[in-house]
Amino acid sequence: MSRSRKPDWLKMRPPSGERFTDIKQSLRERDLHTVCEEANCPNMGECWSGGANASPNEEAADAADSGPGTATFMLLGDRCSRGCNFCDVETGGMEPLDPDEPANVADAVADIGLDYVVLTSVDRDDLPDQGAGHFAETIRAIKRRDSSILVECLIPDFQGEPDLVRQIIDAEPDVLAHNIETVDRLQWPVRDRRAGYEQSLSVLRQANRESDVFTKTSLMLGVGEYAHEVYQTLSDLRQVGTDIVTFGQYLQPSRSHLEVSDYVHPDVFDTWQRVAEEEFEFQYCASGPMVRSSYRAGELFVESVLA
Ligand code: SF4
Ligand code: SF4
Repeated sequence: MSRSRKPDWLKMRPPSGERFTDIKQSLRERDLHTVCEEANCPNMGECWSGGANASPNEEAADAADSGPGTATFMLLGDRCSRGCNFCDVETGGMEPLDPDEPANVADAVADIGLDYVVLTSVDRDDLPDQGAGHFAETIRAIKRRDSSILVECLIPDFQGEPDLVRQIIDAEPDVLAHNIETVDRLQWPVRDRRAGYEQSLSVLRQANRESDVFTKTSLMLGVGEYAHEVYQTLSDLRQVGTDIVTFGQYLQPSRSHLEVSDYVHPDVFDTWQRVAEEEFEFQYCASGPMVRSSYRAGELFVESVLA
């Protein structure tokens, strides 16, 4: 598939549905911002509605039973100390942390009535603890407000420092996610040079060794990877005990970012899902051109892992 024109399968209908509209309104009333909206993620209708909006038929979609709604909040500021070549977040100019953020996020999640929240963050290599304490406190604040809310944390690599990863484990999230992003050979130029394949595997390995938390990771396809490299990555991820994996299509945020190598056909995504679930026995694999690491995370976690 040529990389010069986006194929039809990357076109999505705009999000809709009653629950989507309610959550959007709650966020506006509280002047809160999610990654979902700021990235203009095409999955908002499905994620926020817990799957009720998943059908291409609008009436059927709105009438369907909904699972847990998922939304993603960004912690530790909106500027990153790293500069990955696929990522649209601004690099440098780091600001001090907002000490009220853990409580504010916890209040927002409880007030809006989300059942499953994904917390993610920029990397804060500039801080003595790289933001691990603040991230852990946000998990605890959400659980204190309502212990039934499921929390997935999508954490940085904390430069592979075990004491920092342990701070997150000790806060007892339900899912600990860390994205390996791509295969070993392509870590650079895809990721910042301070990231790395072994370092990311070490974060997942530690979480699995030191706790019962479910672990999760994501890969982008379409950055130049070969099938045998993806296969090897799945094998390495299972070797360190990773439970959940997702695959999505890389899309170039601007001309100054890494170019798309190819638009991967939906059938190929289906194949990787089968390989991950049937051959490598991941608890589940979400795989598709528009899938992002937090895609329908609550719904799929409840259906595939807790059921
Ligand atoms: Fe983006 Fe994360 Fe890389 Fe920072 S570390 S540039 S937020 S992908
Ligand atoms: Fe939000 Fe993630 Fe779903 Fe996109 S995939 S709408 S960022 S929860």
